[in-house]
Amino acid sequence: MTCEICGGSGFTENPPEPPHPPTLNRCSCMLKRDIIRNLENGLRGLSSVPSSRSSNLRGLEKKDLLITSGQEFLSHLKHVVANMPTTWAFKVASDAELVTAWLGSIGLQGKDILDPDAYMVSTQYVTIPDLVVPPDLLIIRMGVKVARNQAASEVLAEAVNTRFHEHRPTWIWEEPSYPLNPGHMFWSDKLGWTLSQHFERVSGLRIPDPITGTKPSSVKILQPSSGNSSKKSLRGGK
Ligand SMILES: [Zn+2]
Repeated sequence: MTCEICGGSGFTENPPEPPHPPTLNRCSCMLKRDIIRNLENGLRGLSSVPSSRSSNLRGLEKKDLLITSGQEFLSHLKHVVANMPTTWAFKVASDAELVTAWLGSIGLQGKDILDPDAYMVSTQYVTIPDLVVPPDLLIIRMGVKVARNQAASEVLAEAVNTRFHEHRPTWIWEEPSYPLNPGHMFWSDKLGWTLSQHFERVSGLRIPDPITGTKPSSVKILQPSSGNSSKKSLRGGK
């Protein structure tokens, strides 16, 4: 549909002030277009997800978070991204993609790839740093990888530590039914230590209700040092 304000040009002209040449303003439709592009660059299909009207995740874009949430997380993420500058880049990478990146680097070294998901290996991402370093915010979506891989725990720890050493924030998104605890395919004590030291836990994200527009319920942010029950699971002890 053609924009009624700018007629599709993307710009509106300011009233002329002679002798200066007329100046142009970017039309608001351009901003909308850029936001949609940013959403889709970070996660394909995110622009079609119903957006949460508000989110307690807003303002936490520079923090390392371990978020326990169902699919409502995507609505919160959309709200956060839509309110960031369109030059700010995020990326949602699944746990499976991390392993694929790692497998890809193994493949390049000429070694055997012994993983049922190996058919996914592409040269799109050559190494874990290639995949995880660039975005301003990396979101690692857990629970996509099903086939077990021995290197899984090391791959996640490496991804998280790589981000940490680059001073770039990471959100780890886990499903409530499959928490990232000892026994999880991607768990390692090294990861547990990093999580306990640097990550805040977030749970209880409001399920968006665009019709009533109710106020968000409070979101629990549990500090790693607060001595609550989540601490044990992060420490890596059984
Ligand atoms: Zn326009």
